[in-house]
Amino acid sequence: MTTTPRWTLVLHGGSGSMTRETLSAEADAAGRAGLHAALAAGSRILASAGTALHAVEAAIRVLEDDPAFNAGRGSVFTADGVIECDAAIMDGRDRNAGAAAGLTATRNPVSLARAVMERSPHVLLAGTGADAFSREQGLEQADPDWFATPERRRQLDEMLANPDAAFDIGMKYGTVGAVAVDAAGHVAAATSTGGLTAKKWGRIGDSPLIGAGTYADDRAAAVSCTGAGEYFIRLGVAAEIAARVRLSGRSIEDAADRAIDELGEYGGKGGVIVVAPDGSGGWAFNTPGMYRAIATHETSAEVAIYGDE
Ligand code: ASP
Repeated sequence: MTTTPRWTLVLHGGSGSMTRETLSAEADAAGRAGLHAALAAGSRILASAGTALHAVEAAIRVLEDDPAFNAGRGSVFTADGVIECDAAIMDGRDRNAGAAAGLTATRNPVSLARAVMERSPHVLLAGTGADAFSREQGLEQADPDWFATPERRRQLDEMLANPDAAFDIGMKYGTVGAVAVDAAGHVAAATSTGGLTAKKWGRIGDSPLIGAGTYADDRAAAVSCTGAGEYFIRLGVAAEIAARVRLSGRSIEDAADRAIDELGEYGGKGGVIVVAPDGSGGWAFNTPGMYRAIATHETSAEVAIYGDE
């Protein structure tokens, strides 16, 4: 007798101020198409009894290659007009983790994060050293032109012309994240981003920081965050959600809601996606919208952007 593998995959493509009035029809359609394609890539792996780790990496790679999202190709520009990508991945089975920050040439930052986890004794590599490790490992490299898009260039120009509105404009949605639980009940999480438009001084957000923007623990949950990274770092949001589930027995929905409430109390904006080893999955956010998607072994793909969907 064969049984159908049970699995859940949840994705985000960034939280932010998007509403039906502010988002163009093209951006709406591109975001939804990208999430559907990434869900399909991850779901295929989970449906054939692949691992959650493999599925989150595959889903993120699709979103990194998609210029509609602020990760890999289509990442935002720093104040100096370059693109610096951050990514992390974590395996809930043994809480093994890998991350990389300030990457300038790795086509798929999430795969470098996985290489750091599996092929180095470290958890987090940054800057030129991380790029060197990437080349040594034979990961695919890309020219600056591959990552750059006219829309991100326009956003940088707009921001440099309006320094007073800096943080609001800088908070461009589009960071990507994936969390999954596989047929064996193991969870994994991954996050990838270009960070904030016009970032400087080597600024790094929560996405590549294990426990802040990314966390996975088979005893509790897998979490990927998006939003104002500084708040997620200060509150250790991803690990906090896992700890609430593990220590207080809260449901993941409850723990995620509470963490986002607390983020708001501190003035932070953003969202999280979560799954638990029991197959439950969902999200919470305090921004007008969040690109998000979910699929399971028994439900078809659901994709949404606005808060009222
Ligand atoms: N959290 C990311 C960062 O702070 C940005 C985002 O999610 O939009 O780098």
